[in-house]
Amino acid sequence: MNSHGKWKVVIGLEVHVQLNTKSKLFCGCSNESLGKPNSRCCPICIGLPGSLPLPNKSAIEKSALFGIAVNSKINKSVQFSRKNYFYPDLPKGFQTSQFSLPICEGGEIKYLHDNMEKTVQLTRAHLEEDAGKLIHSVQDSATHIDLNRCGTPLLEIVSEPDLRSASEAKAYLTQLKQQIQYLEISNCDMEKGQLRCDANVSIRKNDSDEFGTRAEIKNVNSFKFVEKAINLEINRQIDILENGGKIKQCTLQYDDKADSISVLRLKEDAHDYRYFPCPDLPPVFIDDKIIKKLNDNCPEKPIEKVKRFQKDYKLSLSDSERICQESNFANYFENLIIKIGDVKKSKNILLGDISKLLKDKNISINELPISIDDISKLLNFQNNGSLSVSNFKKAFILKAESNNPLSTILEKNNLLNDDTHSLADIVIEVADANPSELLRYQSGEEKLKGFFMGQIMRKTQGKANPAELVKLIEALKTHSN
Ligand code: ADP
Ligand code: MG
Ligand code: ZN
Repeated sequence: MNSHGKWKVVIGLEVHVQLNTKSKLFCGCSNESLGKPNSRCCPICIGLPGSLPLPNKSAIEKSALFGIAVNSKINKSVQFSRKNYFYPDLPKGFQTSQFSLPICEGGEIKYLHDNMEKTVQLTRAHLEEDAGKLIHSVQDSATHIDLNRCGTPLLEIVSEPDLRSASEAKAYLTQLKQQIQYLEISNCDMEKGQLRCDANVSIRKNDSDEFGTRAEIKNVNSFKFVEKAINLEINRQIDILENGGKIKQCTLQYDDKADSISVLRLKEDAHDYRYFPCPDLPPVFIDDKIIKKLNDNCPEKPIEKVKRFQKDYKLSLSDSERICQESNFANYFENLIIKIGDVKKSKNILLGDISKLLKDKNISINELPISIDDISKLLNFQNNGSLSVSNFKKAFILKAESNNPLSTILEKNNLLNDDTHSLADIVIEVADANPSELLRYQSGEEKLKGFFMGQIMRKTQGKANPAELVKLIEALKTHSN
C-alpha cells in the first residue's frame, strides 16, 4: 500500500483560504493585498479598546457557498469565539474564530488519485480572521510589524484524517483548490499566501487500527512542498519509532531551501486556547432565503464537469482534466462547441492555438484578444479550403494582435487562397464555355465530372482545392445560364 514497509501513514489537512471579499472580516478596511505597511488598518482590525466588530455578510455567504458545494451542513446560527494566545502579529491577544458553532459542519471532497476516485470527509470549515505579518529585517537587525493583513477573512477547512500518503494529500489539495476557484470565493494565489496548508501526520504499524500521535507541519505554501514535507515527516517518525523512541505531539516547520523540517514547539491542545464566545459578536443567523440563493447559484463541481465532458464530448480523461482545470476555460470550450458545432475542432483549437496564445501572453481565457466569432469565421475559411493551415495560424495571431476587422487583416496580408477564392467563378466560366457538356452532365452523365475537373485544373494550373472543386462541380447540376 505504501513504500514504508511495516508502517501505515495517516494524514489530515487544515487549509486556510483567504476569501476575496472587498473588505476585511469585521471592519471596512480594504481586503486587497496592496498599500504601504500599516496603511490598511483601523481600531477594529487591530483591536483597540472600545472598537466594535461587525461581521462581513459577503464573507459569511462565501463560506456558506463553499459548504453547500461540498455537501456540508450549514449551521443556521453561527457563533464567533475568541481563541486566546500570545500572537506577536495580532496585537489584541486573541483571534476571532469559530469553535463550537462553525459555519460548515461535515461535507466531503471527491478527488482522483492514480485514476481512482477517492473521498476525504471534511470535519468542518470555519471563518476566522488572519493575523498581521512580522518582517525580520537584516538591514537594521530589527523585526518590523505590518498589520495590513490583520482581520482579513480566512476560511479554515479541516479534513478528517482520511489521507494515506503524501501524494494523496497533494491530489486532495489540488481538487480542493480547483473547487474553491470554481466557486470564485478566493483567488488561491499560493505565492501571496492566499492558500496555506497545515499537514497533520502520524504513522502506525501495518497491523494496527489505532492512530499514532500526530505532528503538525505548519503553513506550507506550495503543493510540491506539502508533499515533500509530509514525506520528510513520515521518515522522521519511522526513524524515531524504529529506534525505540516515542512521537511527541508537536508543531514543525518546513524549510523549502534546505528541504528539511524542524520542531518549532510542543503542541498545544484546544483547551489551552480557552475559547469562549466573543461578547462583542452575537450569533449570526443565516436566512433560508440566503441558503436557497446560494444553492441556486452553486456551480457544477469540477470533478463532475470532468466526468460529464468525458461522457458527453468523448474526451480522454487527461483532455477533460486539462479543459476543466479552470471553470472559465471549460465554459469557453462549451461556447466554442455551440458556435462551431464540432467537438473535435473546438478541442483542437482550444488546446492548440488558443492555449499557446494564452501561455505566450500569460493571460487567462477571459482576456483572449480574439472573439469567438472571428475564430469561427477563420475555421469556416479553413473548412472551405480558402485558408491554409499555416495561414490560419498567421491570421489567428495577427487578429489577436490587432483591432482591425478580420476581413481587413485577411485581405491586407493576402491570406485567403485567391485560386479557391475565385474558384466558383472559374467553374461557372468553364461551364458557360461548354454548354453542351454542361447539358449532358445535368441530364445525368456523371463521367463529365472528370471533364470539368480537367478543364478547371488546367485553367487554375492545378491549384484548385480538389474537395472544394468537387463540391462546386456538383453544384453545376442546378446551374442555369
Ligand atoms: P488543531 O487546531 O489542534 O490542529 P484541529 O482539530 O483543527 O486541531 O485539526 C486536527 C487535524 O489533524 C485534522 O485535520 C485531523 O484530521 C488531523 N488529525 C487528527 N488526528 C490525526 C492523526 N492521528 N494523524 C494524522 N492526522 C490527524
Ligand atoms: Mg491545527
Ligand atoms: Zn480595519
